[in-house]
Order: sequence, then C-alpha cells, then structure tokens
Amino acid sequence: MTAQLFVVATPIGHLDDITYRAIETLRNVDLIAAEDTRQSAMLLKHFNINTPLTACHDHNESHKIEQLIQQLLAGQSIALISDAGTPLISDPGFKLVRAVQAHNIKVTPIPGACAAIAGLSAVGLPSDRFSFEGFLPSKSSQRLATLEQLKNENQTLIFYEAPHRILASIQDMITVFGPDRHVGFAREITKTFETIKKTTLAELAQWVESDRNQQKGEIVVIVAGATEKVDLQAEKLDHILQRLLQDVSVKTAAQIAADLFDIKKKVAYQRALELSQ
Ligand code: SAM
Repeated sequence: MTAQLFVVATPIGHLDDITYRAIETLRNVDLIAAEDTRQSAMLLKHFNINTPLTACHDHNESHKIEQLIQQLLAGQSIALISDAGTPLISDPGFKLVRAVQAHNIKVTPIPGACAAIAGLSAVGLPSDRFSFEGFLPSKSSQRLATLEQLKNENQTLIFYEAPHRILASIQDMITVFGPDRHVGFAREITKTFETIKKTTLAELAQWVESDRNQQKGEIVVIVAGATEKVDLQAEKLDHILQRLLQDVSVKTAAQIAADLFDIKKKVAYQRALELSQ
C-alpha cells in the first residue's frame, strides 16, 4: 500500500452499513486518526480491527496535522474516520486533507454512509439540486438571519439539527419560510426508532411539539426549495385541467382553472391547449 491518507466513512447507526472496502482499509493502514478514540475503539472491536488509533479532533487538528504529515512522508498510510458517517461532513478533517494534499500525498475517499444523503434519498423532496447547510447557529437571532439568506433559494436545503434545538429551529423556519413550505424530517436513520416523514413546516412543528420522542436522537431536516410550492401548484393545475378537458372545452376548462387557482386566464388557456393536444 503506497503511503496515503484514506478518508473512510463509517456507519451512522446500523453497524452493517460499513463497506467491505472500509473494513479492509482500516485493517491495512498503519494508523487510524479518529475524532473520538474511545467511540471508534468500539467500532473497531466490533469488526476485529486492531490498527492503532490516534485522536484527531476539532481541538487538536492543527497541531496534530504536522505529526500525521511526518508519518505519511515516512511511508505510513493513515485512515481518517469520524464518530459517524463521512468525515469532513459537519465533522473534522478538512484541514488535514488540505495539508496532506499540499504535500502532494494522495488522498483517497472510501465512501459510505452520510446522514444528509441518506435522509435526502428517502424523504421525497426534489433531489436534483440541493444545498447542504450543516448546523444552523444556536442563537435564534443568528439562525433567523441565516434562514433569511436562504429564503429564496430554490434548491432543496439540508440541515443537521440537535434534538434540544429542533423545535426552536422549526419555529424559526416557519417565521422565515412560511408555514406551508414542505419539509422532510429524518430522525435516527438506520437505528431502531428511525422516523422518516414529509409534511409542512406548520404540521411538523405541531407534531414534534406534541410527541416528545421526536425531540430525541439525531435529526436531519430537509426543506423544499422556494419553487417547490410553485411546482406542486403546476402539478395540481395539470391534474385538474386534464379532468376538466374530459367534459368541457379548452376555453371553459381554462376559465374554471384560472378561477380556482387565481391565475391569469391566458396562462391557464395556454396550458389547457398544450394538454388537449
Ligand atoms: N459526518 C456525519 C455524516 O456523514 O452524516 C455527520 C456528523 S454531525 C457531527 C452529526 C449530525 O448528523 C447529527 O446531529 C444529525 O443532525 C446528523 N446525523 C448523524 N447520524 C444521523 C442519523 N442516524 N439519523 C439522522 N441524523 C443523523
């Protein structure tokens, strides 16, 4: 194995979600740099991996980098892991990867679980374009300011949130995005109490408030982009026009749809015409 840094994803709950390649890499490297060595020791024990561990976390990353670079330059291979999921994704590692790259040492990703992607894959919101926003600020005033900047973003927004802040964050989202914005809630993904739900922000706030269990564990909140409502409206318009066109003329269908959707008759007529062909 040529000396290199492997960035290895580990499970976000269910231990079976580690890849064969991750296990093999963790067994074969000379050293594993872990966010929390005690936590990672349990994972390694489970998979019978005996590679030595060293701590590399937010508080010692800058100082640790030099030591790890020296080991890599000396020909040792190192794997970087975090407590769960993919390192660098709301986890330490960026400074290390950048420094290793600057020394022309190879950095190899060993992909696997990531809560943001797992959540996005199951909540049923548009996934063609999305923005990973990580954790929102803990102070409400700063959180509102951050959300305000995202208000008109039309791609899906992915947030990580701590359980004790979930309700306050959802309430701030209602303030900025409005109560009807669609939202996905992915809690305890791959674990016993896994909960995946798609609803509106107002309904989510009510539900999370009334069921305290929803304020526990690990949570990903996925908010539909600013255009999602428009898309839905368009879908509904098509549906109703198609039904109307079975019984009435294009002109009448357009008139009824324009009244129902409070849109210009010309717009409804154009769409009705397209659908009738
Ligand atoms: N690096 C990790 C990843 O790849 O997803 C994320 C680490 S970040 C410190 C931890 C946050 O990720 C949690 O607060 C939660 O928002 C989210 N998270 C991690 N595991 C999760 C799970 N099983 N279910 C839902 N969210 C999870």
